[in-house]
Amino acid sequence: MLRGFVHARIWNSDATAFLVEDGRFTKVGTDAEIQAELAAADETVDLNGLYVYPGFADSHLHLVGLGFYLSMLQLSGCRSVQDIQELVKKRLEQKEPWVIGRGYNEDNFDSKRRPLKADLDAVSIDVPIALTRVDGHVMVCNSKALELAGITEKTDIDGGAIDFERGVLEETAMNLVHKAWPKPDADTIEKYIRTGMKECNRYGITSVGSDDFVTLNEDYRPILAVFSRMAFQQSLTVRVNEQCEFASLEDFRQFLEDGYTQDTGDDFFRIGPLKLVADGTLGAHTASLSVPYVDNQGTMGYECYSTEDLNEYIRLAAYYNMAAIVHAIGDETVDTVLDIFKDVVLPGNPLHHGFVHCQITRPEQLQEMIRMQLNCYFQSLFIDYDASILESRVGPELAASSYAFRTLFEGTDASNGSDAPVEMPDVLKGIQLAVTRRSLSHPQAAMNPGECLSPKQALESYTAAGYKAFDVQDRLGAIQEGYLADFAVLDTDIEHCEPETIAKGKVMMTVMNGETVYER
Ligand SMILES: [Zn+2]
Repeated sequence: MLRGFVHARIWNSDATAFLVEDGRFTKVGTDAEIQAELAAADETVDLNGLYVYPGFADSHLHLVGLGFYLSMLQLSGCRSVQDIQELVKKRLEQKEPWVIGRGYNEDNFDSKRRPLKADLDAVSIDVPIALTRVDGHVMVCNSKALELAGITEKTDIDGGAIDFERGVLEETAMNLVHKAWPKPDADTIEKYIRTGMKECNRYGITSVGSDDFVTLNEDYRPILAVFSRMAFQQSLTVRVNEQCEFASLEDFRQFLEDGYTQDTGDDFFRIGPLKLVADGTLGAHTASLSVPYVDNQGTMGYECYSTEDLNEYIRLAAYYNMAAIVHAIGDETVDTVLDIFKDVVLPGNPLHHGFVHCQITRPEQLQEMIRMQLNCYFQSLFIDYDASILESRVGPELAASSYAFRTLFEGTDASNGSDAPVEMPDVLKGIQLAVTRRSLSHPQAAMNPGECLSPKQALESYTAAGYKAFDVQDRLGAIQEGYLADFAVLDTDIEHCEPETIAKGKVMMTVMNGETVYER
């Protein structure tokens, strides 16, 4: 099918019209230049002066997790433990085998008190209830859920923590519950993927770096199989660069021995780097810091792997020509990983090893990332909430060199994303936050303005930089003849509008592989 698009304002281009066929841009030019060929087109879309951008690339999120999240009990609107209890009570009426919820944040409660086992037992002791905090790194369970997960007061776990009395699980301890809840079948996994993709398309996203393998339980194979089938059927509406996370070194070894490595796949679903989660989050006080948390002197957070295991994962990946990208939020974890990268990363970083998040950083660490040319996957959307807690958690000195997005963007290969479902994948909100570094939900809260991106840089962080991270910049990320026809149509000139209004812009249409996948 030949489609013509006319009367467009194309970002970074003098062209105003283009033709699309077989999933690619076949001609890009002025309306006059395209005119003669429109007669042969099956369809001509008049964009009426709207703004066209390359399809946005969200360089790190969890597509299956996003679909799963949107299908489960939503707790982000809760302002108290009682709110949570009310919602759980209501959900129980649906008579599901488990009540699984996510999204509460005790920082939004007047009491600042997090929900505990007793609060959930008060609602039900018969139906298992497991609720995950907004950041995905802490979970609270009722007695029944702990019982089904086989957790007792004696259970001990590496890389996580269990507070049995309160029913609170951190990091790897949550896997015990993930293993216990009902295993989704292929249809359910596909439903989650479709739900996640639909949400991405609404925001103009057509490519994602997505970490999915251990979202629902510990076995990566069912999710790999569903993605592979959907790619073959061309039913994916975002291109997926899989950031492969595993439950164990044995699983990773098996995956490699089965012949998978970076770049296996096609332009719909491709195996990307190995993803490792090396510490927790700032919100939950589980990110591993080099100093105690200012607002909780009893903890410095902790790392989720032993240094030996981390080392083995990263070396194994490199041996099979696969990059390792490591979730590191605290500066202590950044130190640990830099120390390993020092011996593994080749000059110029040809495999694209890197960091996901790299939030709390010291100046010399930033210099080391630049020297090694590491890839950095940051999330400017996190500024919205973290600007209100950063200084109170880590103090002014460490805060000043943290969330150093401009330093990273200008010095390394850094790209932007949402980490959805931690944040919804709202690209325009992410661009505004990168440009202003001022919270939208806590208007008094802001971060070091020296690290603001220009609007152009922020747009690039969601386009060219993402495609470079996925190593597909020779065919994606531009409205250009021969490139794959992925683009977003907006009602706003993001580069030149008032920065405080960027997030109010609207996505009018999203096109992936030449086909309209979202229309407002
Ligand atoms: Zn993530």
